[in-house]
Amino acid sequence: MAATLRALRADITTLSIDAIVNAANSSLLGGGGVDGAIHRAAGPELVAACRLLGGCRTGDAKLTRGFRLPARWVVHTVGPVWRGGREGEPELLASCYRRSLEVAAAAGARSIAFPCISTGIYGYPLEPAARLAIDTVRAALAEPTHADWQDLSFCCFSAGDLAVYESLLRASA
Ligand code: ADP
Repeated sequence: MAATLRALRADITTLSIDAIVNAANSSLLGGGGVDGAIHRAAGPELVAACRLLGGCRTGDAKLTRGFRLPARWVVHTVGPVWRGGREGEPELLASCYRRSLEVAAAAGARSIAFPCISTGIYGYPLEPAARLAIDTVRAALAEPTHADWQDLSFCCFSAGDLAVYESLLRASA
């Protein structure tokens, strides 16, 4: 069965799915934005689990349980800080999506939701980030190692972000 790829508007901490992705910083010890929201909702067990992971490089991803979240797992990935686009930001952002899918698939996840990684505090412009997110996830889904995915979502926090994702998904369907 083909996986569904869609955009939705929600607080990612409320989603009852296998895995949610956290746009973390390289310490993995919590921060603002979606990272802060996830840590608040998951409870103090999450930062304790993250402390054992030894941080995470930009473009990589690491897995923990979801603790008090309805999601079973949290994939912590570290997006690039936008510095104008010529310092490897697109490659690093694409790597976040690929690595997040890999670590979640390795744990057996079949459903996953991504926030708009790097587009908040890290300043990556939304439209190119959304285009890259969609293209990277689509390309990964074509690989045999990702055949078991059922439900993949881009979880937008604002109506404006959702509109951008929906129009890009429609245009590239
Ligand atoms: P980064 O540091 O990677 O830019 P941010 O957390 O600042 O990460 O922003 C990433 C995206 O997450 C932004 O689009 C922001 O609006 C969104 N966001 C913030 N809180 C939540 C939440 N609870 N659920 C989903 N998305 C959120």
